[in-house]
Amino acid sequence: MKRRIEARYMAIAMVSLLVLSVMAGCSSSTKSEAEAAKENEKQPLIVQGPMPIEAEKFASKLSDVKEEKSGSFVFYKGTLDGYPVIVTKTGKGMENTAAATAVAIEKYDPIAIINQGTSGGHDPDLHVFDIVLGERTVNLGSLKTPNKDEGEGISPKEWIPMDLMASEGSAGEDPDAENIRYFEGDKTLLKAAHAVKDTYTKGKIVDGTIGSADVWNNEVDRINWFHENFGSSVEEMEGAAGAQIAKAYDVPFLGIRVLSNNKVNDGAYNPETAEANQEYVYEVVKEYLTMIEEK
Ligand code: SAH
Repeated sequence: MKRRIEARYMAIAMVSLLVLSVMAGCSSSTKSEAEAAKENEKQPLIVQGPMPIEAEKFASKLSDVKEEKSGSFVFYKGTLDGYPVIVTKTGKGMENTAAATAVAIEKYDPIAIINQGTSGGHDPDLHVFDIVLGERTVNLGSLKTPNKDEGEGISPKEWIPMDLMASEGSAGEDPDAENIRYFEGDKTLLKAAHAVKDTYTKGKIVDGTIGSADVWNNEVDRINWFHENFGSSVEEMEGAAGAQIAKAYDVPFLGIRVLSNNKVNDGAYNPETAEANQEYVYEVVKEYLTMIEEK
């Protein structure tokens, strides 16, 4: 009888030991594998360009490139000095950029986003081939008109800025929404951009305000109105859309725009600026990756 009880205890003890060791084995092996995979899997840096001339040059500088598509957005997934970098050809305009930014964040969990390409000057001190680092980005299409009855005409110079992020209430009714919403450029990305300024010899590089809307302004008085009232250095059609979505997800963001034209000082459009900008942004990316690796 005693022997039978002993044998039963032994069996229970052995089974418990087995269960415990299997459990321990399972959890420790899955945990360490998952941890190892996470450590190896660095978050990619994303570089966005709207048009083929604004994205493909950069993509061709990456190694081991695999092309992926989501909708009309093309992601060139590669590496730069062993670090994952994804160039996105977003297509032109605010909607494409906003969507391509959200898709990229959901799919690739980027460490940061640089939106770069060409732009038109609003500042008479800036010339074709100069580059603006987007210390701030602003949507130049977020506007409210004054009240006018039929027959009273339209007066664009009286349009009021409208902040769509001010509240969840009606932006049309809310006087607190009559402000300009600026999106701040990321400080670390700006620091990297400053650090490699000297590598760019085709023009000067300044910190400034990038204004965006699905509009190409050719009226100099209107350009001056934006420059005076919104402080815009340049205009383009993407930056503020990317900045707004990056902010929604708390992803560091910077716009970097070369002037391909400047109506204010007769700077004729030059498409070669797009390639020059990508060469500079390549230096910024290398510097940024070194900075975050050292952290
Ligand atoms: N001239 C080009 C048109 C480009 S369309 C062509 O014929 O193909 C607009 C694109 O150029 C957008 O991606 C925008 O970001 C950029 N851009 C450059 N200069 C601009 C300006 N003055 N106003 C608005 N967008 C500008």
